[in-house]
Amino acid sequence: MNFDVVIIGGGLAGLTCGIALQEQGKRCAIINNGQAAIDFSSGSMDLLSRLPSGQKVQNIYQSLDELTAQAPEHPYSILGKDQVLAKAQQFEQLARALNLHLEGSTAGNHERVTPLGGLRATWLSPNSVPTVKHLTALAEKQVAILGIEGYHDFQPQLLADNLKQHNQFADYEFTIGYLNIPELDYLRQNSREFRSVNIAQLLEHKLSFQDLVQEIKQAAGSAKAVFLPACFGLDNQDFFNSLQQATGLALFELPTLPPSLLGIRQHRQLCSCFEQLGGMMMNGDRAVRAEFEGDKVVRIFTTSHQEEPISANHFVLAAGSFFSNGLVAEFERVTEPVFDLDICGCKNFDSSDRFTWTNNRFAAPQPYQSAGVVINSACQVQKNGAVMPNLYAVGNVIGGFQGIEQGCGSGVAVVTALTVAEQIGGIK
Ligand SMILES: Cc1cc2nc3c(=O)[nH]c(=O)nc-3n(C[C@H](O)[C@H](O)[C@H](O)COP(=O)(O)OP(=O)(O)OC[C@H]3O[C@@H](n4cnc5c(N)ncnc54)[C@H](O)[C@@H]3O)c2cc1C
Repeated sequence: MNFDVVIIGGGLAGLTCGIALQEQGKRCAIINNGQAAIDFSSGSMDLLSRLPSGQKVQNIYQSLDELTAQAPEHPYSILGKDQVLAKAQQFEQLARALNLHLEGSTAGNHERVTPLGGLRATWLSPNSVPTVKHLTALAEKQVAILGIEGYHDFQPQLLADNLKQHNQFADYEFTIGYLNIPELDYLRQNSREFRSVNIAQLLEHKLSFQDLVQEIKQAAGSAKAVFLPACFGLDNQDFFNSLQQATGLALFELPTLPPSLLGIRQHRQLCSCFEQLGGMMMNGDRAVRAEFEGDKVVRIFTTSHQEEPISANHFVLAAGSFFSNGLVAEFERVTEPVFDLDICGCKNFDSSDRFTWTNNRFAAPQPYQSAGVVINSACQVQKNGAVMPNLYAVGNVIGGFQGIEQGCGSGVAVVTALTVAEQIGGIK
Protein backbone atom coordinates (compact mmCIF):
# COMPACT_ATOMS: atom_id res chain seq x y z
CA MET A 1 0.00 0.00 0.00
CA ASN A 2 1.27 3.41 -0.93
CA PHE A 3 -0.04 6.85 0.08
CA ASP A 4 1.06 10.45 -0.17
CA VAL A 5 0.82 10.76 3.61
CA VAL A 6 0.37 8.22 6.40
CA ILE A 7 -0.79 9.58 9.76
CA ILE A 8 -0.33 7.52 12.91
CA GLY A 9 -3.16 8.32 15.34
CA GLY A 10 -6.75 9.42 14.70
CA GLY A 11 -7.42 11.87 17.53
CA LEU A 12 -8.03 15.61 17.17
CA ALA A 13 -4.52 16.27 15.77
CA GLY A 14 -4.37 13.37 13.30
CA LEU A 15 -7.87 13.98 11.93
CA THR A 16 -7.42 17.76 11.61
CA CYS A 17 -4.18 17.19 9.70
CA GLY A 18 -5.80 14.48 7.54
CA ILE A 19 -8.79 16.67 6.65
CA ALA A 20 -6.56 19.61 5.64
CA LEU A 21 -4.38 17.31 3.52
CA GLN A 22 -7.35 15.63 1.82
CA GLU A 23 -8.70 19.09 1.02
CA GLN A 24 -5.41 19.76 -0.75
CA GLY A 25 -5.86 16.61 -2.84
CA LYS A 26 -3.34 14.41 -1.00
CA ARG A 27 -4.07 10.69 -0.56
CA CYS A 28 -3.96 10.02 3.17
CA ALA A 29 -4.38 7.04 5.45
CA ILE A 30 -4.86 7.28 9.21
CA ILE A 31 -3.76 4.28 11.25
CA ASN A 32 -5.62 4.39 14.51
CA ASN A 33 -5.43 2.09 17.44
CA GLY A 34 -8.19 3.09 19.85
CA GLN A 35 -10.07 5.84 21.63
CA ALA A 36 -8.58 9.30 21.70
CA ALA A 37 -8.33 12.04 24.35
CA ILE A 38 -11.11 14.00 22.60
CA ASP A 39 -13.57 11.21 23.60
CA PHE A 40 -12.90 12.17 27.22
CA SER A 41 -12.62 15.95 26.87
CA SER A 42 -15.14 18.65 27.78
CA GLY A 43 -15.92 19.64 24.17
CA SER A 44 -14.44 23.09 24.84
CA MET A 45 -11.10 23.68 23.16
CA ASP A 46 -8.34 25.56 24.94
CA LEU A 47 -5.73 27.57 23.02
CA LEU A 48 -3.88 29.11 25.98
CA SER A 49 -5.60 29.62 29.31
CA ARG A 50 -2.67 30.07 31.70
CA LEU A 51 1.03 30.98 31.47
CA PRO A 52 3.66 28.75 33.13
CA SER A 53 3.90 31.44 35.86
CA GLY A 54 0.26 30.69 36.72
CA GLN A 55 -1.05 34.00 35.35
CA LYS A 56 -4.49 33.71 33.70
CA VAL A 57 -4.63 34.54 30.00
CA GLN A 58 -7.24 37.03 28.78
CA ASN A 59 -5.67 38.30 25.60
CA ILE A 60 -4.09 35.37 23.75
CA TYR A 61 -2.22 37.59 21.27
CA GLN A 62 -0.33 39.48 23.99
CA SER A 63 0.26 36.42 26.14
CA LEU A 64 2.04 34.49 23.37
CA ASP A 65 5.04 36.87 23.69
CA GLU A 66 5.15 36.29 27.43
CA LEU A 67 4.88 32.52 26.84
CA THR A 68 7.94 32.60 24.57
CA ALA A 69 9.91 34.37 27.30
CA GLN A 70 8.77 31.96 30.03
CA ALA A 71 8.81 28.70 28.01
CA PRO A 72 11.01 28.79 24.87
CA GLU A 73 10.56 24.99 24.62
CA HIS A 74 6.74 25.30 24.22
CA PRO A 75 5.56 24.28 20.68
CA TYR A 76 3.92 27.74 20.29
CA SER A 77 7.28 29.40 21.02
CA ILE A 78 8.95 27.17 18.41
CA LEU A 79 6.30 27.85 15.75
CA GLY A 80 6.08 31.58 16.44
CA LYS A 81 3.18 33.80 17.44
CA ASP A 82 2.00 34.68 13.90
CA GLN A 83 1.87 31.04 12.83
CA VAL A 84 -0.02 30.01 16.00
CA LEU A 85 -2.67 32.67 15.49
CA ALA A 86 -2.98 32.04 11.73
CA LYS A 87 -3.50 28.31 12.23
CA ALA A 88 -5.90 28.79 15.16
CA GLN A 89 -7.99 31.08 12.95
CA GLN A 90 -7.81 28.53 10.13
CA PHE A 91 -9.22 25.94 12.54
CA GLU A 92 -12.07 28.29 13.47
CA GLN A 93 -13.02 28.36 9.77
CA LEU A 94 -12.73 24.57 9.49
CA ALA A 95 -14.96 24.13 12.56
CA ARG A 96 -17.58 26.40 10.97
CA ALA A 97 -17.42 24.45 7.71
CA LEU A 98 -17.84 21.17 9.65
CA ASN A 99 -20.78 22.56 11.61
CA LEU A 100 -19.17 21.81 14.97
CA HIS A 101 -21.28 24.64 16.54
CA LEU A 102 -18.23 26.16 18.26
CA GLU A 103 -18.32 29.71 19.64
CA GLY A 104 -15.31 31.87 20.56
CA SER A 105 -12.30 33.34 18.80
CA THR A 106 -8.60 34.08 19.12
CA ALA A 107 -9.60 37.64 20.06
CA GLY A 108 -9.86 36.48 23.67
CA ASN A 109 -10.77 33.63 25.99
CA HIS A 110 -14.29 33.29 27.36
CA GLU A 111 -15.37 31.58 30.58
CA ARG A 112 -17.40 28.38 30.45
CA VAL A 113 -19.33 26.90 33.36
CA THR A 114 -17.84 23.58 34.48
CA PRO A 115 -20.01 20.68 35.73
CA LEU A 116 -18.86 21.45 39.28
CA GLY A 117 -19.93 25.08 39.03
CA GLY A 118 -16.48 26.53 38.39
CA LEU A 119 -15.63 29.02 35.63
CA ARG A 120 -12.85 28.05 33.24
CA ALA A 121 -11.19 30.19 30.59
CA THR A 122 -11.23 28.61 27.14
CA TRP A 123 -10.99 29.42 23.43
CA LEU A 124 -13.91 27.63 21.72
CA SER A 125 -17.00 26.08 23.29
CA PRO A 126 -19.99 24.30 21.76
CA ASN A 127 -22.83 26.86 21.63
CA SER A 128 -24.90 24.47 23.76
CA VAL A 129 -22.48 24.78 26.71
CA PRO A 130 -23.27 27.53 29.27
CA THR A 131 -20.80 30.39 29.39
CA VAL A 132 -20.73 33.54 31.50
CA LYS A 133 -21.79 35.46 28.38
CA HIS A 134 -24.85 33.22 27.88
CA LEU A 135 -25.90 33.46 31.53
CA THR A 136 -25.51 37.20 31.85
CA ALA A 137 -27.59 37.63 28.65
CA LEU A 138 -30.59 35.77 30.14
CA ALA A 139 -33.71 37.92 30.45
CA GLU A 140 -34.62 36.33 33.81
CA LYS A 141 -32.07 35.34 36.41
CA GLN A 142 -33.61 31.96 37.03
CA VAL A 143 -32.08 28.66 35.92
CA ALA A 144 -33.36 25.13 36.52
CA ILE A 145 -30.56 22.57 36.88
CA LEU A 146 -31.95 19.16 36.02
CA GLY A 147 -30.25 15.84 36.69
CA ILE A 148 -31.49 12.42 35.68
CA GLU A 149 -32.81 10.23 38.48
CA GLY A 150 -30.19 7.68 39.50
CA TYR A 151 -27.44 9.21 37.33
CA HIS A 152 -24.55 10.17 39.61
CA ASP A 153 -22.11 11.68 37.09
CA PHE A 154 -23.95 15.02 37.28
CA GLN A 155 -24.80 16.65 40.62
CA PRO A 156 -27.24 19.59 40.27
CA GLN A 157 -27.04 20.72 43.92
CA LEU A 158 -23.25 20.90 43.90
CA LEU A 159 -23.30 22.83 40.62
CA ALA A 160 -25.90 25.29 41.94
CA ASP A 161 -24.12 25.87 45.27
CA ASN A 162 -20.77 26.49 43.60
CA LEU A 163 -22.21 28.79 40.92
CA LYS A 164 -23.80 30.96 43.61
CA GLN A 165 -20.32 31.60 45.02
CA HIS A 166 -19.38 33.63 41.93
CA ASN A 167 -20.17 37.34 42.30
CA GLN A 168 -21.86 37.62 38.93
CA PHE A 169 -24.39 34.89 39.86
CA ALA A 170 -24.95 35.74 43.52
CA ASP A 171 -28.45 37.13 42.77
CA TYR A 172 -29.46 34.26 40.43
CA GLU A 173 -32.02 31.68 41.47
CA PHE A 174 -30.91 28.12 40.72
CA THR A 175 -33.61 25.51 41.21
CA ILE A 176 -32.90 21.80 41.28
CA GLY A 177 -34.89 19.01 39.69
CA TYR A 178 -34.58 15.50 38.30
CA LEU A 179 -35.94 13.96 35.11
CA ASN A 180 -37.88 10.80 35.79
CA ILE A 181 -37.43 8.54 32.78
CA PRO A 182 -38.70 4.99 33.47
CA GLU A 183 -37.24 3.73 30.15
CA LEU A 184 -33.79 4.13 31.75
CA ASP A 185 -34.60 1.53 34.45
CA TYR A 186 -33.12 -1.11 32.20
CA LEU A 187 -29.70 0.63 32.40
CA ARG A 188 -29.98 1.20 36.15
CA GLN A 189 -29.79 -2.54 36.76
CA ASN A 190 -26.07 -2.29 36.09
CA SER A 191 -24.57 0.97 37.41
CA ARG A 192 -21.56 0.61 35.11
CA GLU A 193 -23.90 0.93 32.14
CA PHE A 194 -25.61 4.03 33.45
CA ARG A 195 -23.32 6.36 31.50
CA SER A 196 -23.91 9.32 29.19
CA VAL A 197 -23.29 7.29 26.02
CA ASN A 198 -25.75 4.52 26.97
CA ILE A 199 -28.34 7.03 28.11
CA ALA A 200 -28.00 8.98 24.85
CA GLN A 201 -28.48 5.83 22.76
CA LEU A 202 -31.59 4.89 24.68
CA LEU A 203 -33.12 8.36 24.74
CA GLU A 204 -32.61 8.90 21.03
CA HIS A 205 -34.08 5.63 19.86
CA LYS A 206 -36.34 4.12 22.51
CA LEU A 207 -38.21 6.99 24.15
CA SER A 208 -41.03 9.02 22.70
CA PHE A 209 -39.61 12.44 21.89
CA GLN A 210 -42.76 14.17 23.09
CA ASP A 211 -42.59 12.40 26.48
CA LEU A 212 -39.05 13.69 26.94
CA VAL A 213 -40.08 17.23 25.98
CA GLN A 214 -42.94 17.13 28.49
CA GLU A 215 -40.71 15.78 31.25
CA ILE A 216 -38.14 18.58 30.76
CA LYS A 217 -40.83 21.28 30.66
CA GLN A 218 -42.48 19.97 33.80
CA ALA A 219 -39.20 19.63 35.75
CA ALA A 220 -38.10 23.14 34.67
CA GLY A 221 -41.15 24.69 36.35
CA SER A 222 -41.20 28.46 35.82
CA ALA A 223 -37.53 28.69 34.73
CA LYS A 224 -36.92 29.68 31.13
CA ALA A 225 -33.29 28.48 31.15
CA VAL A 226 -32.29 24.88 31.91
CA PHE A 227 -28.97 23.10 32.49
CA LEU A 228 -28.87 19.39 31.59
CA PRO A 229 -26.09 16.79 31.66
CA ALA A 230 -24.75 16.16 28.13
CA CYS A 231 -26.69 12.93 27.53
CA PHE A 232 -28.80 14.01 24.57
CA GLY A 233 -27.54 13.28 21.03
CA LEU A 234 -24.62 10.99 20.30
CA ASP A 235 -23.64 11.70 16.70
CA ASN A 236 -24.05 15.47 16.61
CA GLN A 237 -25.97 18.33 18.23
CA ASP A 238 -29.14 17.89 16.12
CA PHE A 239 -31.11 15.94 18.75
CA PHE A 240 -30.27 18.48 21.45
CA ASN A 241 -31.24 21.36 19.12
CA SER A 242 -34.59 19.68 18.39
CA LEU A 243 -35.23 19.38 22.14
CA GLN A 244 -34.41 23.05 22.53
CA GLN A 245 -36.87 23.99 19.81
CA ALA A 246 -39.65 21.70 21.04
CA THR A 247 -39.43 22.81 24.69
CA GLY A 248 -39.15 26.50 23.80
CA LEU A 249 -36.62 26.82 26.65
CA ALA A 250 -33.02 28.03 26.64
CA LEU A 251 -31.38 24.60 27.10
CA PHE A 252 -27.70 24.21 27.96
CA GLU A 253 -25.69 21.01 28.37
CA LEU A 254 -22.71 20.36 30.64
CA PRO A 255 -19.99 17.76 30.09
CA THR A 256 -20.32 14.71 32.33
CA LEU A 257 -17.60 12.45 33.67
CA PRO A 258 -15.79 10.69 30.78
CA PRO A 259 -16.70 9.38 28.29
CA SER A 260 -17.96 12.77 27.22
CA LEU A 261 -20.67 13.12 24.61
CA LEU A 262 -19.54 16.62 23.69
CA GLY A 263 -16.08 15.36 22.72
CA ILE A 264 -17.36 12.15 21.13
CA ARG A 265 -19.64 14.14 18.79
CA GLN A 266 -16.69 16.22 17.59
CA HIS A 267 -14.61 13.09 17.08
CA ARG A 268 -17.35 11.44 15.01
CA GLN A 269 -17.86 14.54 12.87
CA LEU A 270 -14.12 14.86 12.18
CA CYS A 271 -13.86 11.14 11.26
CA SER A 272 -16.81 11.32 8.93
CA CYS A 273 -15.46 14.47 7.22
CA PHE A 274 -12.05 12.83 6.67
CA GLU A 275 -13.69 9.77 5.10
CA GLN A 276 -16.08 11.84 2.98
CA LEU A 277 -13.06 13.64 1.57
CA GLY A 278 -11.68 10.25 0.49
CA GLY A 279 -9.26 9.59 3.36
CA MET A 280 -8.71 6.00 4.48
CA MET A 281 -9.30 5.19 8.17
CA MET A 282 -7.49 2.04 9.31
CA ASN A 283 -9.18 1.57 12.68
CA GLY A 284 -8.08 -1.05 15.17
CA ASP A 285 -4.59 -1.18 13.69
CA ARG A 286 -1.37 -0.18 15.41
CA ALA A 287 1.89 1.11 13.91
CA VAL A 288 4.73 -0.88 15.47
CA ARG A 289 7.96 -0.11 13.64
CA ALA A 290 9.46 1.75 10.71
CA GLU A 291 12.19 1.30 8.09
CA PHE A 292 14.48 4.15 7.10
CA GLU A 293 16.58 4.97 4.03
CA GLY A 294 19.17 7.56 5.00
CA ASP A 295 17.39 10.15 7.08
CA LYS A 296 13.95 9.36 5.60
CA VAL A 297 11.21 7.02 6.75
CA VAL A 298 10.16 4.86 3.80
CA ARG A 299 7.65 2.39 5.22
CA ILE A 300 5.96 1.36 8.41
CA PHE A 301 4.71 -1.98 9.71
CA THR A 302 1.51 -2.36 11.70
CA THR A 303 -0.03 -5.21 13.70
CA SER A 304 -2.26 -6.03 10.69
CA HIS A 305 0.46 -5.38 8.10
CA GLN A 306 3.47 -7.24 9.46
CA GLU A 307 4.47 -8.63 6.06
CA GLU A 308 3.04 -5.97 3.76
CA PRO A 309 4.41 -2.60 4.93
CA ILE A 310 2.71 0.72 4.21
CA SER A 311 4.80 3.25 2.32
CA ALA A 312 4.32 6.99 1.84
CA ASN A 313 6.17 10.17 0.90
CA HIS A 314 5.44 11.76 4.28
CA PHE A 315 4.62 10.37 7.72
CA VAL A 316 2.88 12.23 10.53
CA LEU A 317 3.10 11.04 14.12
CA ALA A 318 -0.16 11.97 15.90
CA ALA A 319 -0.09 9.21 18.50
CA GLY A 320 -0.83 11.32 21.60
CA SER A 321 0.91 11.12 24.96
CA PHE A 322 1.09 8.43 27.68
CA PHE A 323 -2.71 8.36 27.85
CA SER A 324 -2.88 7.01 24.28
CA ASN A 325 0.41 5.05 24.31
CA GLY A 326 2.06 7.56 21.97
CA LEU A 327 4.73 7.75 24.69
CA VAL A 328 5.86 4.99 27.01
CA ALA A 329 7.60 5.34 30.39
CA GLU A 330 10.12 2.54 30.83
CA PHE A 331 12.07 2.18 34.03
CA GLU A 332 15.08 4.15 32.81
CA ARG A 333 13.68 6.47 30.16
CA VAL A 334 10.65 7.84 28.42
CA THR A 335 10.44 6.60 24.84
CA GLU A 336 8.43 7.12 21.67
CA PRO A 337 7.80 3.49 20.70
CA VAL A 338 7.38 3.51 16.87
CA PHE A 339 10.43 5.52 15.68
CA ASP A 340 12.44 5.93 18.92
CA LEU A 341 12.60 9.72 18.47
CA ASP A 342 14.43 12.23 20.66
CA ILE A 343 12.43 13.26 23.73
CA CYS A 344 12.26 16.62 25.49
CA GLY A 345 10.10 18.24 28.18
CA CYS A 346 9.82 21.39 30.24
CA LYS A 347 12.90 23.00 31.80
CA ASN A 348 13.43 20.58 34.68
CA PHE A 349 12.55 17.36 32.88
CA ASP A 350 15.22 14.87 31.81
CA SER A 351 13.89 11.82 29.96
CA SER A 352 16.67 9.56 31.26
CA ASP A 353 16.52 10.65 34.92
CA ARG A 354 13.29 9.42 36.50
CA PHE A 355 13.88 11.57 39.60
CA THR A 356 13.07 14.61 37.42
CA TRP A 357 9.76 13.13 36.16
CA THR A 358 7.61 13.97 39.14
CA ASN A 359 7.08 16.80 41.58
CA ASN A 360 6.71 15.66 45.18
CA ARG A 361 3.70 17.97 45.59
CA PHE A 362 0.80 15.87 44.28
CA ALA A 363 -1.26 18.85 43.06
CA ALA A 364 1.67 20.58 41.30
CA PRO A 365 2.13 20.26 37.51
CA GLN A 366 4.02 17.02 36.99
CA PRO A 367 7.10 17.35 34.72
CA TYR A 368 6.45 13.97 33.01
CA GLN A 369 3.25 15.46 31.55
CA SER A 370 5.42 17.81 29.47
CA ALA A 371 7.39 14.93 27.90
CA GLY A 372 7.19 14.41 24.17
CA VAL A 373 9.14 14.41 20.94
CA VAL A 374 11.42 17.24 19.84
CA ILE A 375 10.21 19.33 16.87
CA ASN A 376 11.48 22.25 14.79
CA SER A 377 9.40 25.14 13.43
CA ALA A 378 8.14 22.92 10.58
CA CYS A 379 7.10 20.26 13.15
CA GLN A 380 9.73 17.87 11.75
CA VAL A 381 11.01 15.52 14.44
CA GLN A 382 14.53 14.62 15.51
CA LYS A 383 16.25 11.25 15.97
CA ASN A 384 19.73 10.98 17.51
CA GLY A 385 20.10 14.74 17.15
CA ALA A 386 19.31 14.82 13.39
CA VAL A 387 16.16 16.28 11.82
CA MET A 388 14.05 13.74 9.88
CA PRO A 389 12.86 15.57 6.75
CA ASN A 390 9.72 13.51 5.97
CA LEU A 391 8.56 12.69 9.53
CA TYR A 392 6.44 15.25 11.40
CA ALA A 393 4.76 15.29 14.82
CA VAL A 394 1.44 16.89 15.74
CA GLY A 395 -0.57 17.19 18.97
CA ASN A 396 0.03 15.70 22.34
CA VAL A 397 3.00 13.52 21.34
CA ILE A 398 5.08 16.74 21.13
CA GLY A 399 7.09 17.72 24.21
CA GLY A 400 7.64 21.01 26.02
CA PHE A 401 4.16 21.95 27.25
CA GLN A 402 1.70 21.18 30.04
CA GLY A 403 -1.66 20.78 28.24
CA ILE A 404 -3.83 20.62 31.33
CA GLU A 405 -2.04 23.16 33.50
CA GLN A 406 -1.58 25.74 30.72
CA GLY A 407 -4.93 24.97 29.04
CA CYS A 408 -3.48 24.49 25.56
CA GLY A 409 -4.06 20.77 24.72
CA SER A 410 -6.51 21.19 21.85
CA GLY A 411 -4.79 24.35 20.64
CA VAL A 412 -1.43 22.61 20.26
CA ALA A 413 -3.21 19.72 18.48
CA VAL A 414 -4.92 21.84 15.81
CA VAL A 415 -2.18 24.46 15.35
CA THR A 416 0.54 21.84 14.78
CA ALA A 417 -1.80 19.71 12.61
CA LEU A 418 -2.55 22.60 10.26
CA THR A 419 1.12 23.66 10.23
CA VAL A 420 2.14 20.19 9.04
CA ALA A 421 -0.61 20.11 6.40
CA GLU A 422 0.71 23.44 5.13
CA GLN A 423 4.30 22.16 5.11
CA ILE A 424 3.43 18.98 3.23
CA GLY A 425 1.07 20.68 0.81
CA GLY A 426 3.49 23.53 0.22
CA ILE A 427 0.54 25.93 0.35
CA LYS A 428 0.75 29.12 2.37
C1 LIG B 1 -9.72 13.52 30.26
C2 LIG B 1 -9.24 14.62 29.35
C3 LIG B 1 -9.91 15.84 29.32
C4 LIG B 1 -9.48 16.85 28.48
N1 LIG B 1 -10.16 18.02 28.45
C5 LIG B 1 -9.76 19.00 27.61
C6 LIG B 1 -10.48 20.23 27.53
O1 LIG B 1 -11.47 20.43 28.22
N2 LIG B 1 -10.03 21.19 26.67
C7 LIG B 1 -8.92 21.00 25.89
O2 LIG B 1 -8.55 21.89 25.11
N3 LIG B 1 -8.23 19.85 25.94
C8 LIG B 1 -8.61 18.86 26.78
N4 LIG B 1 -7.92 17.69 26.83
C9 LIG B 1 -6.72 17.56 26.00
C10 LIG B 1 -7.05 17.33 24.54
O3 LIG B 1 -8.21 16.53 24.43
C11 LIG B 1 -5.87 16.66 23.87
O4 LIG B 1 -4.74 17.51 24.05
C12 LIG B 1 -6.03 16.46 22.39
O5 LIG B 1 -7.28 15.88 22.08
C13 LIG B 1 -4.89 15.55 21.96
O6 LIG B 1 -5.13 15.07 20.68
P1 LIG B 1 -4.05 14.17 19.93
O7 LIG B 1 -4.68 13.84 18.63
O8 LIG B 1 -2.72 14.80 19.95
O9 LIG B 1 -3.86 12.84 20.81
P2 LIG B 1 -4.88 11.69 21.23
O10 LIG B 1 -6.23 12.21 21.36
O11 LIG B 1 -4.26 11.04 22.41
O12 LIG B 1 -4.90 10.68 20.00
C14 LIG B 1 -3.88 9.80 19.71
C15 LIG B 1 -4.47 8.59 19.00
O13 LIG B 1 -3.39 7.82 18.47
C16 LIG B 1 -3.64 6.45 18.70
N5 LIG B 1 -2.35 5.76 18.71
C17 LIG B 1 -1.35 5.83 19.63
N6 LIG B 1 -0.32 5.07 19.25
C18 LIG B 1 -0.66 4.50 18.07
C19 LIG B 1 0.00 3.61 17.18
N7 LIG B 1 1.23 3.16 17.42
N8 LIG B 1 -0.64 3.22 16.05
C20 LIG B 1 -1.90 3.65 15.78
N9 LIG B 1 -2.57 4.52 16.60
C21 LIG B 1 -1.95 4.93 17.72
C22 LIG B 1 -4.36 6.41 20.03
O14 LIG B 1 -5.10 5.23 20.19
C23 LIG B 1 -5.26 7.65 19.91
O15 LIG B 1 -6.48 7.33 19.31
C24 LIG B 1 -8.34 16.66 27.66
C25 LIG B 1 -7.66 15.43 27.68
C26 LIG B 1 -8.10 14.42 28.50
C27 LIG B 1 -7.35 13.12 28.50
